[in-house]
Amino acid sequence: MARYDAVVIGAGLGGLTAGAILARQGRKVLVIERGNSVGGAASSYKVGDLFVEGSLQLTSAPQHPQDPKHDVLTRAGVLDMVEWVPSGALYQVRGGPLGQPFVLPDDFARARAALIARFPHAEAGITTLLDELQTSAAAPALPAAGELSLAQRLQQLFGDDEAVKCAIAGNLCYLHDDPAKLSWNAFAAVQGSFLQSGGRFVKGGSQRLSSALARAIMRAGGEVQLRRVVSAITLDGNGAACGIVHTARDGSDPQQVEAACVIGSAAPPVLAGLMPETAAATLTESYAALPPSISLFALTLGLSQPPTQFGVDAYSTHVLPSWMTRLADYAQGTQLMAGEPDGRLPPLAIVDYAAIDSGVPTPPYVLSVVGPDSPANWQGVPPDDYRARRSRWQQAIVAALDALYPGLADAVTHSAFNTALSVQQYLNAPGGAVYGFAPLTGQPARSPRTVVPGLYLASAFAGLGGYSGVVQSAGVCADLILGDS
Ligand SMILES: Cc1cc2nc3c(=O)[nH]c(=O)nc-3n(C[C@H](O)[C@H](O)[C@H](O)COP(=O)(O)OP(=O)(O)OC[C@H]3O[C@@H](n4cnc5c(N)ncnc54)[C@H](O)[C@@H]3O)c2cc1C
Repeated sequence: MARYDAVVIGAGLGGLTAGAILARQGRKVLVIERGNSVGGAASSYKVGDLFVEGSLQLTSAPQHPQDPKHDVLTRAGVLDMVEWVPSGALYQVRGGPLGQPFVLPDDFARARAALIARFPHAEAGITTLLDELQTSAAAPALPAAGELSLAQRLQQLFGDDEAVKCAIAGNLCYLHDDPAKLSWNAFAAVQGSFLQSGGRFVKGGSQRLSSALARAIMRAGGEVQLRRVVSAITLDGNGAACGIVHTARDGSDPQQVEAACVIGSAAPPVLAGLMPETAAATLTESYAALPPSISLFALTLGLSQPPTQFGVDAYSTHVLPSWMTRLADYAQGTQLMAGEPDGRLPPLAIVDYAAIDSGVPTPPYVLSVVGPDSPANWQGVPPDDYRARRSRWQQAIVAALDALYPGLADAVTHSAFNTALSVQQYLNAPGGAVYGFAPLTGQPARSPRTVVPGLYLASAFAGLGGYSGVVQSAGVCADLILGDS
């Protein structure tokens, strides 16, 4: 039977990063991925002529020495293996209580100046807020008992001034949908690191980063096997994880592998489903208090002309719907796709890849439209009804974009629409969670170490989600394993 130092379940960003660090430290690593390519959410692919970026709109710049990804990607050997393209401003946010667009620059000094110029009456609150984000970027505080929610902190600083709140947290869906539940510390860490180092896209798409990590594993002597499904985690007599069984996707050709430790890039409920009953119950119980994060829909549009032709004037634009009068209303957007489009759209996060030197091939010119959604909105809907409703939502979104950017609808030549249900199925992530456990206020700090000895997490579920959170947790995971062995 083959024996490894570490077996990784799933080639998501977390599993690949931990695997690359361990392999480069001389550990014998095997990564098993059920999909056709590595990366999980951090993938890009083609649907006909349309380039689809599976996830990445924006991450903070990892070249900055204090960025959460800097040391980890360096140790994984990939920091300079891909090109990190600046996004320009962090985002433009428009609509909702803001009305006219506001552009948030991607560094502290210019963000402060822009916010104070637009909201001079809120200068004191803006100064305090940005000081706190700067402190958090340098030394992030984790979600903790007794801490404030994002809504509470913004209320303290800005009272009922909803426009300034939306300007500061326009990219809410990069973390959660409900500011009343979102941890202030988590928000400050993420927004602080964006403002500290600037926004970046991986030139050519996130697949480049995932493939670079897989190559780093293989160059260091590790193995990455695709189209293989982990069907069991084996435990030794002491209840410690000591290997896996993996099969072909049709369940044939089972192979047993021994390992000193098992790392899950797959979600904890998936890992629990692979273990004997008692261990599964113990693992499940240890996460019982942690609800999954939000999910997202992702609509990719291919246009015959660059989006700038229709007035799209930023790389990243957050469109708040007109029914949103308070930042708190954001959370209502998540349930909307359970029904028919009736004039109320969820908040939309739009990225125009042609606005920067993204390396995304053209034509068609790719516009990524992401927004809060839930698999529950689509579950149990018969396939024909599902496709028809999804198509009506696509039409409604395109019509809303056309109202903002006249002429855009007629230029749409290609499209691919992944609902939260498709995201859930593609990632094998319960609840379609794209950021692991929800970063809610007052929750205990998460760790890559699980209650099952020998089983670790290297995924969004081990800390904060998103590229920075996942990469950071994967680094901690690798360190724990190196320390434990
Ligand atoms: C539409 C969308 C937009 C996003 N936008 C951004 C953004 O702009 N910025 C940002 O920072 N983050 C963004 N994210 C979030 C970010 O992409 C994720 O948090 C991150 O990539 C998750 O990585 P992960 O390691 O947890 O694993 P995942 O990506 O969830 O991968 C898990 C892997 O495990 C595999 N797997 C599961 N079960 C098994 C099994 N039994 N056997 C073998 N393999 C298995 C799956 O196939 C998958 O490849 C976005 C996500 C989505 C979906």
